[in-house]
Amino acid sequence: MSQIRANFLKHMAQTSPFPLMLDIVKAEGVYLIDRNGKKHIDMISGIGVSALGHCHPRVVEAVQKQAATYMHTMVYGEYLLGPQIELATLLAKHLPDTLNSTYFVNSGTEATEGAMKLAKRFTGRGKFIACKNAYHGSTQGSVSLMSDPTWTAPFRPLLPNVHHIDFNCEYCLRKIDEDTAAVIVETVQGEWGVRKPNPIFLKNLRARCTEVGALLIFDEIQAGMGRTGTLFAFEQYDVVPDILLLAKGLGGGMPIGAFISDHKIMQTLSEDPILGHITTFGGHPVSCAAALATLQELTSTDLISQVERKANLIKTLLVHSSILDVRNAGLMMAVELESFERVQAVIKYCLEKGVVIDWFLFNDRSLRLAPPLVISEEEIRVACGVIMKGLEKSDS
Ligand code: PMP
Repeated sequence: MSQIRANFLKHMAQTSPFPLMLDIVKAEGVYLIDRNGKKHIDMISGIGVSALGHCHPRVVEAVQKQAATYMHTMVYGEYLLGPQIELATLLAKHLPDTLNSTYFVNSGTEATEGAMKLAKRFTGRGKFIACKNAYHGSTQGSVSLMSDPTWTAPFRPLLPNVHHIDFNCEYCLRKIDEDTAAVIVETVQGEWGVRKPNPIFLKNLRARCTEVGALLIFDEIQAGMGRTGTLFAFEQYDVVPDILLLAKGLGGGMPIGAFISDHKIMQTLSEDPILGHITTFGGHPVSCAAALATLQELTSTDLISQVERKANLIKTLLVHSSILDVRNAGLMMAVELESFERVQAVIKYCLEKGVVIDWFLFNDRSLRLAPPLVISEEEIRVACGVIMKGLEKSDS
């Protein structure tokens, strides 16, 4: 084993017994380049992050410029920092009027945590409703929202008063009551293997939350930033949440998350107690500069409008008797096979042949595809050709 692999296993804490162990020395566009110079097509955007591909020139330039101008200056929210203000302003421009105030954090799970605190603080209530098989992050508040005890039991005690409903269950909406601080849902459920909402479910969910005064939180940490074919997935359902969560694709490869709400809701975090939610690095200027460049690129080009066409191309290229179902929300895709073993065999084959695909946390019978939105038709054809061969090979 090479020294670098040995050191990786010895000194880097692992949370998986079988890490992919790709030895990446460079990344560019849709390609990851390993130490031997082999190019791998990144069909998962590591994971759901690199919407503009790796090292997009506009993002790299913004990062370099900001890093040379100033990096950390002060904890979040005390100074007027151009990249933060410009990013919050541009986000507000592309969001409904009631999503006008952004709190920047460093990651998706921090966005979840911040939103939960905000909902408690604003409503004075302590009950949360989440969906079964949802994923909102790995810190303790977020883990409390998970439904499957496999993931929660070893970490108890977690937050009390979290209740679960089935995604798309109309009947379950009656569980939302006057004690409920917030209902949190992924607009498109990601880790359960890409499940889209019924439009009517989201509308009735919105109505029920409004009726009982509970806040509605949409987690678009995975589904946001163009991946589903609109800048934000909820735009397709004509329903506006009280709080929106973003991360992953937001930073164009830099770490950043955000929870976004109306100013009058958000300002409760600045009173009783003051400094009710604080972060040292949240909204780091370099991350904000990268996110600003990413958002500018996404909203000034036709990349997002190409999403559906590219997704359809993938669907027409992936036709095989072993595929039970293909679910997608734009370029957030799940290809369902009949077994975990088959999924693993295809992933392994693809990795050997230079195509990186993956599976899902709560659905190990589906292949995960979430390529950078910049992927070309030619690159899609090459990647799908390899996946098809993987499927054929796994037949034998
Ligand atoms: N919510 C959703 C829907 C996610 O997909 C993820 C990450 N997979 C998170 C929250 C957590 O984000 P992070 O890993 O940045 O904490």
